[in-house]
Amino acid sequence: AAKRRHGGVTGYDASLDEGAASRLTLQSELRHGIERGELVVFYQPKVDVATRMPCGAEALVRWQHPTRGLLAPDAFIPLAEETGLIDLVTAEVLDQALAQIARWAELDHELPVSVNIPARSLSDDGFPATVAAALERHRVRPELLTLEITESAVIADMMRAGEVLGELREQGVNISIDDFGTGYSSIAHLRDMPPHELKIDRSFVMKMCENSRDETIVRAVVDLARNLRLRVVAEGVETESALRALDELGCHEAQGYHISRPLPAADLTAWLAGAGSG
Ligand code: C2E
Ligand code: CA
Ligand code: CA
Ligand code: CA
Repeated sequence: AAKRRHGGVTGYDASLDEGAASRLTLQSELRHGIERGELVVFYQPKVDVATRMPCGAEALVRWQHPTRGLLAPDAFIPLAEETGLIDLVTAEVLDQALAQIARWAELDHELPVSVNIPARSLSDDGFPATVAAALERHRVRPELLTLEITESAVIADMMRAGEVLGELREQGVNISIDDFGTGYSSIAHLRDMPPHELKIDRSFVMKMCENSRDETIVRAVVDLARNLRLRVVAEGVETESALRALDELGCHEAQGYHISRPLPAADLTAWLAGAGSG
């Protein structure tokens, strides 16, 4: 299959995904890969827009495939979502991220970490217990964990999703709506299942300084979040001018290549040491 570059890792062409046979191969490879510990978590830092100090990191999974190299999530997360393997992926990323939060705490870096959760996990009423057990196993305070909910499919059972979110909130875990303004994410959810944070999709942020419509949308989401007393995070911050514009709009946090690419944990530890002293 033809390879393309994707955020520093190797992705695969859609042509690979089309063959049923290769999808089946990928599926069983992924199952075994998870068991063999081939999933690796990278961390992309976020900064406080006003002070530019690090204020958190997002856990982003990669697959260290034995023959194909480091695979980007786009090459296997959609398949994992279709086949139900996503629950294994979520559990593995959650476990690694919490272990890392605990390690950073030992180094006196109290760094909150965000983990990506597909909305379908909210229809699993065992999910809050899974999260609680993982927090306990690693002795991490729930306030240091944010769950970024992505609505790549419509939430089938709203009542149950509301209950699951309510339980997670009660535990003290933070809830973020990822890719706000795209997919199935709905403004009604802000009323019925209020999160702690909105994350503005990178498609609106990347060109906000060139495209006035994008800037207007970013401004509207920042205002909406602030008026609802929610934290607001912009992802896809690729330039200094975007970071300055976000500061003027009152956006709380920023994440993007201009600040740092996603890094292996050890590299982020070094980056944090540099960011703190300089
Ligand atoms: P996302 O949650 O929206 O994550 C942000 C993506 O934007 C990441 O891509 C990140 O590398 C990329 N990014 C960050 N800054 C910039 C920038 O300045 N410019 C541009 N162009 N891109 C930037 P990545 O790591 O390839 O992840 C892609 C998607 O895969 C994520 O989008 C998320 O939906 C999914 N994903 C990643 N890790 C996990 C996971 O552990 N579980 C689940 N369920 N999904 C995951
Ligand atoms: Ca995310
Ligand atoms: Ca996002
Ligand atoms: Ca996304």
